[in-house]
Amino acid sequence: MTCGHQGSLFGAPEGRYARVALDTPVRREFSYHVPDSCEPLVAGSRVRVPFGRREGLGVVVGVDEHPPSDVPPDRIRSLNGVLDPDPLLTPSLLRLAHSIADTTYCSWGQALAAMLPAALRRDRPRRTIPVVELVEMPSAEDLEKLEKSYPKQAKALAYLERAGGPMELREVRNRTGLSRSPLDTLAKKGFVKFGRRKEFLDPFSDVPLLRDKPPQLTDPQQHCVDRLLESLETRKHRDYLLFGITGSGKTEVYLHALERCLGQDRGAIVLVPEIALTPQTVSRFRARCGEVAVLHSGLTDAERHDQWVAIREGRLRVVVGARSALFAPVADLGLIIVDEEHESSFKQESTPRYHARDVARERARLEDAVCVLGSATPSLESWAAAHEEGGLVKLELRDRVAGGKLPGIQVVDMRVQQPEKGKWLVMSQPLCAALGKALDNDERAILFLNQRGYAPAWHCRACGGSVHCKACDVALTYHRWRRKAICHYCLHEEEPPQICPNCKGPVDMVGVGTERAEDTVERMFPKARLARMDRDTMLRRESYEEVLKAFGCGDFNVLLGTQMVAKGLDFPEVTLVGVLNADTALHHPDFRASERCFNLIAQVAGRAGRSDRGGKVVVQTWMPEHPALMAAKNHDYVGFARAELAERKLFGFPPFGAAIRLSFEAEHRSRVEETASAAAQALLAAANGAPDIKILGPAAPPVEKIRGRIRRQILIRTSRSGLTQIREVLFDLCQKQGITVDPL
Ligand code: ADP
Ligand code: ZN
Repeated sequence: MTCGHQGSLFGAPEGRYARVALDTPVRREFSYHVPDSCEPLVAGSRVRVPFGRREGLGVVVGVDEHPPSDVPPDRIRSLNGVLDPDPLLTPSLLRLAHSIADTTYCSWGQALAAMLPAALRRDRPRRTIPVVELVEMPSAEDLEKLEKSYPKQAKALAYLERAGGPMELREVRNRTGLSRSPLDTLAKKGFVKFGRRKEFLDPFSDVPLLRDKPPQLTDPQQHCVDRLLESLETRKHRDYLLFGITGSGKTEVYLHALERCLGQDRGAIVLVPEIALTPQTVSRFRARCGEVAVLHSGLTDAERHDQWVAIREGRLRVVVGARSALFAPVADLGLIIVDEEHESSFKQESTPRYHARDVARERARLEDAVCVLGSATPSLESWAAAHEEGGLVKLELRDRVAGGKLPGIQVVDMRVQQPEKGKWLVMSQPLCAALGKALDNDERAILFLNQRGYAPAWHCRACGGSVHCKACDVALTYHRWRRKAICHYCLHEEEPPQICPNCKGPVDMVGVGTERAEDTVERMFPKARLARMDRDTMLRRESYEEVLKAFGCGDFNVLLGTQMVAKGLDFPEVTLVGVLNADTALHHPDFRASERCFNLIAQVAGRAGRSDRGGKVVVQTWMPEHPALMAAKNHDYVGFARAELAERKLFGFPPFGAAIRLSFEAEHRSRVEETASAAAQALLAAANGAPDIKILGPAAPPVEKIRGRIRRQILIRTSRSGLTQIREVLFDLCQKQGITVDPL
């Protein structure tokens, strides 16, 4: 940019100038003079800078020998200090952040902030994790009083009692929505006590480092490995899609590629979904690659800092982790693996709203690394890219290694099933029969239901209305363990309604959540030793591992739960998988609803029949003729992808164009409507009638109000060139308060 400050060299201090990216939505860099005490300064270091009246932490993205031309010399301030004598971020990570900012609509500083672990975003990293635990419960009488006068304290006690051990404070806040003050009061009364956990009870530390001998690869595996090794030899960037059914030996292929990569003295990153980041997974990588860095959300700041430094210095060469491990400062990166690349948890749902799959490919490109995306049900983006000139190279594993077959899937039409007398329909006849048989044979079962609580809604028999949260536009869920109606958005609790708030008519609890399902199964199957796994039973990090261990050794024989039971689990004794309601995924007004439903069924089905005992899957649905279900029943990914892609193409949805959702929120309806329509106007003006730019809305989103704030949204569908045309408007919008720009 040129400005009119011709004489600006006068008065500007001698020396060098740093361009600094700060964690604010403003899409620009800020210039500072570099005092001698901060030299030699290089891009990639963190610096402390004056920002307004405060001090901010930023990352140096460039150092110039001359003062900036767009700031008057007397306005230029100096850096306060440097935190890293050696740059923390490599030039390619700086560039990666820049490209994330440009493709996900945020500032360079915001993208950089997301890359750095929290420990490195703060001046003084926390060494410990604050926890709180129950000392004793008040007497029943006192509890009742507390419930009346101080419901928040009663709520905190209930959750801590349920947790059965120390809970992280952060986790208490997330689960209950409570601030610290009710806990403080409870501590004063002696009911709870605070503590600090020095380090995470690392579930990975006691996993023995057993070196194992690789098995003899099957021919298809060998073929895949050969292709990857060839690519590694060239040291050039290339993207692969490893398409292999569950249990086909994909991990074994990754392991061979990793060994070669280490043999070249290069580093690697393995991304797995957070939920699959278990000791079993990690131990497989350790056994073959030696010590690996594990980046997961349970680390303290200090531990994360140490890992980061160890990676940066090349002491740890292989990083295994969830989404954010993608930004680990691995030097000489040779290989990036994204396992289960179709997983929606790879998309970050806060700024920067990137998808790990895209960033993995971009990083591989910037660093001349090989990128492998693996899945049994690839995302349609990757599948399309694998059939495109210059896109992904497809590698395929068609069969399970052990020759085991995929389990048969029976789809049950719930519209013709009769519930038990006076009961809600939870288990169909065929599912009951299958579960009974499995339990008689001493086998194990997994039951999946993506709905927490006892019942997801109340309906009024008179007016047909339902009972909604006052602050949010959603139905309240009944949670029986709390005997409360709870809003899943704002965590507000209230007494279960006795009558309809609109017409005072009688209300019924409708629908089935995991609590109700647990009840039904235990009542109908005395042989069931059931463990329920959902956010209400898994209040502590450790709980998840504990239950899985107990299921693995047979203390439980039925595992019932939400998403948590659907993925990655590998228990050979499981012969039956039941999907209690396949339709929950289909009810979302989202162009990926079908894809999600198909993936989910394929994934849960993959949990059954992992041994020679075979397996069976029963899927309950009220929409048996839905194409996603029919394809899943036939294990027909290819057919599903073909039909679904044809539909996406027809409507111009990704991967055939870009889809972007703009969300607006404000306290007042008029305000949000104003902002949203101004945005729509600006977009329409930029689109200038181009037929390939479709702007839908502003309209009310499915949930119009959350925490008392009113929301609107605009959906944009456009070709790539159309996107360029409206880019500047999007960049402008993403810097404003109350607006989010989300590439879908
Ligand atoms: P995927 O990642 O595709 O689900 P895995 O790599 O986990 O599959 O393999 C499934 C099972 O088969 C694992 O227990 C693994 O140890 C075993 N396995 C993989 N490849 C071979 C092979 N070539 N010979 C024998 N067993 C293998
Ligand atoms: Zn609410």
